[in-house]
Amino acid sequence: MTHTRAFVPTMGALHAGHLSLIDIAKQYSSDVVVSIFVNPLQFEDPDDLAKYPRTLESDSERALGAGASEIWAPTEKDIYPDEVQLIDAGAIGKKYEGAGREGHFDGVLTVVDRLFKHVQPTHAIFGEKDFQQLFIIKKWVRKSESPIEIISAPIIRDVDGLALSSRNTRLSAEDRKYALIISRALRQATHERSVESARDRLHDVLASEPSFELDYAEIINEDNFEPATSARKARALVAGWVNGVRLLDNMQMSVPTFPTVVAP
Ligand code: AMP
Repeated sequence: MTHTRAFVPTMGALHAGHLSLIDIAKQYSSDVVVSIFVNPLQFEDPDDLAKYPRTLESDSERALGAGASEIWAPTEKDIYPDEVQLIDAGAIGKKYEGAGREGHFDGVLTVVDRLFKHVQPTHAIFGEKDFQQLFIIKKWVRKSESPIEIISAPIIRDVDGLALSSRNTRLSAEDRKYALIISRALRQATHERSVESARDRLHDVLASEPSFELDYAEIINEDNFEPATSARKARALVAGWVNGVRLLDNMQMSVPTFPTVVAP
């Protein structure tokens, strides 16, 4: 039998969302490698990079406890020993998450490429939490004819609906309440019948929370990342800030699976 290796790249500060990726990885291989590396190339804001939580010891314990066979925490020198040639993420890399964060996705592809070369996985697991990242990585892997299979993992949320994120630890109890507007807006918008009403609902609900500062909110077509024109394979994306903490979330449109019967 050919050897398989499933890889879960992370930036650490592990939470249940990361652990769910390890769980999925175990379905593909008994050899599960988890990397922990805060990639400076994908941070455009030095303050955000400096504040990024670093908890290597407890991360290793949690990942091994969840069934990882190996934790790999490389240094910056290990990943970038000499001058870095950035990989261009293309036009989609300049939209949404890439619009306000110049070079972000070039940095993501560059680190993923280097991590893949070190780990040599057969499978790599990425969360839908970073839906644009997942899209760009899948596209790049297809284009470069890499044999690595990219597996997507659903978003894990807290009981109150907030998508788990390493940055949530920077939210106060009060901030958390404000942040819930994101999942509430996504839930309501994705249950609208048309893309147009979904777009309106998304913006209206988000605007109802003055403590939420919107970066972008859009309904996109999952196949090409263009603004969606129909609810099929459409997904609502939201990003913004609560008290300076950047939050990101998304949800697929729920399309009714049966025809609506209109009463006579
Ligand atoms: P990060 O450490 O933020 O770079 O995330 C590492 C991986 O975990 C990425 O593939 C993320 O999409 C994924 N991830 C982060 N948060 C969640 C979540 N709440 N649910 C599922 N996957 C997640």
